[in-house]
Amino acid sequence: MDRLGPVRIARFTAGDDPAYGVVGGDLDQFGQPAEDAVVVELSGDPLYAGIQPTQTEHRLSDVRLLAPVIPRSKVVAIGRNYRAHAAELGNDVPEEPLMFLKPNTSVVGPGDQVFYPTQSERLDYEGELAVVIGRICRDVPPEQATDVIFGYTIANDVTVRDFVRNFYRPPVRAKGWDTLCPLGPYLVEGEIADPHQLELRAYVNGELRQRGNTQQLLRGVPELIEFITGFMTLEPGDILLTGTPRGVSHVYPGDVMRLEIDGIGALENAIIAESPGV
Ligand code: MG
Repeated sequence: MDRLGPVRIARFTAGDDPAYGVVGGDLDQFGQPAEDAVVVELSGDPLYAGIQPTQTEHRLSDVRLLAPVIPRSKVVAIGRNYRAHAAELGNDVPEEPLMFLKPNTSVVGPGDQVFYPTQSERLDYEGELAVVIGRICRDVPPEQATDVIFGYTIANDVTVRDFVRNFYRPPVRAKGWDTLCPLGPYLVEGEIADPHQLELRAYVNGELRQRGNTQQLLRGVPELIEFITGFMTLEPGDILLTGTPRGVSHVYPGDVMRLEIDGIGALENAIIAESPGV
């Protein structure tokens, strides 16, 4: 297969078991494939088997996209990694990376619905660059960080904000509620442009609410990988959320969140009221 430019990997279903595929065709200005794009099915899981195309091809419009990766063990997320975002919530910049985990049960895919928790009065979107780990790794020096990265995608670190500020409600609920980690639409392999030069925007119901650039990250991707792997093994398919820029705000049932990162794509999810007992 030609390897012109970055490879976009979709995880999808055409009605049967989930499969992976490489998305082909022209891209629009957001890195989204054209209407007539196709997806060439891969043999196995590219995180383990590499990119091995089969003869099977689908029209992209005929398949349902799924989260491009379900983390094998964890989503590691970094808080307050943009100075202006820390300030907008009245927080200082932490002396060392502020970390939390999101369980893989919080992951949903492009177009999936996000539940608005019945106990929340403030649910916020957070648009973030997500790093997908490609190799089992520990104690990774920053200069070798790119060796353990498989690629990048977009994450929405949806947050039950009213659960963050109460000591008796630790972030495991604020951040770990089912459906509060939309990922997608594609896993963009390897060398996208510099991951520290990416424009990020968030829209709610079509209105631009958040705009930032990953060059504003207080700690870049190599430094974060060094810090995390200094005490925790990362495995293929684990995800690192790099933090959100200034411009988070509330969303409500019925709202549609759209996150864009140039060169990666757009991730859209609607919010619905969580039905009691779900
Ligand atoms: Mg966040």
